[in-house]
Amino acid sequence: PDGQAVLRVEELDVTYGRALSALRQVSLTVPPGAVVALLGANGAGKSTLLRAVSGTLRLHRGAVTAGRIRYGDTALDGQDPVAAVRAGVVQVPEGRRVFAGLTVDENLRAGGLGLGRRSPALVREARDRVFALFPRLAERTGQAAGLLSGGEQQMLAIGRALMAAPRLLLLDEPSLGLAPLMVERIAEVIREINAQGTAVLLVEQNAGMALSLADHAHVLEVGEVRLSGPAEELARTDAVRRLYLGET
Ligand code: ATP
Repeated sequence: PDGQAVLRVEELDVTYGRALSALRQVSLTVPPGAVVALLGANGAGKSTLLRAVSGTLRLHRGAVTAGRIRYGDTALDGQDPVAAVRAGVVQVPEGRRVFAGLTVDENLRAGGLGLGRRSPALVREARDRVFALFPRLAERTGQAAGLLSGGEQQMLAIGRALMAAPRLLLLDEPSLGLAPLMVERIAEVIREINAQGTAVLLVEQNAGMALSLADHAHVLEVGEVRLSGPAEELARTDAVRRLYLGET
């Protein structure tokens, strides 16, 4: 994987089934090492965009009907999660979908299966990195993932994605349903992951958190990009303050 690769989404259209248009003419880029936030209300199409980039659209009966997705030199077509992971692009799905019946360690090993084919040393390295980020997981390696707290499950979901050594991490609502302290902790972790060189495309309803982390942000409204700009600038616009930051 090329650590210097840029994610380019160009004029992307996505539909579900025959009729439902979920994204129209969506363009955005994620430069190497950047944090880019995607804001928008429920149903705006944020998760759809992440699914298209991670190649998991088909699992949701969606399809790219126009436009392009490229990560560096690799063309991603929205349908092939293995191609995306090989290129270094890994998604943490919404709702902390860990394997509840497996232990923490087994969940992490599942995330590292691709790396393991290259070398066990790479898996050990990735695991050490995850435990350095999440000491709580290191203390609970033998525990069933389903018995972890919500915040710990979110950590595990992120840790499992990191086991594939991504260059670009796609995060879908990591703060959803977590207590404020845990949201802060997750924000710190995202900052740390990014500081270690991983680019992040972050979908959030918590606009305050997302804008505090991001370099650049886009606002999606019913499938289209309505606003884009440096995160600090967007945080100052009236529309964003009123609609997404809850100010009056
Ligand atoms: P949320 O935060 O609620 O997940 P979102 O911005 O991520 O919202 P999406 O989940 O991407 O929005 O949904 C975009 C549109 O596509 C919505 O109208 C939604 O109902 C529709 N949609 C999403 N998934 C499917 C699916 N599997 N089949 C049909 N329609 C879908």
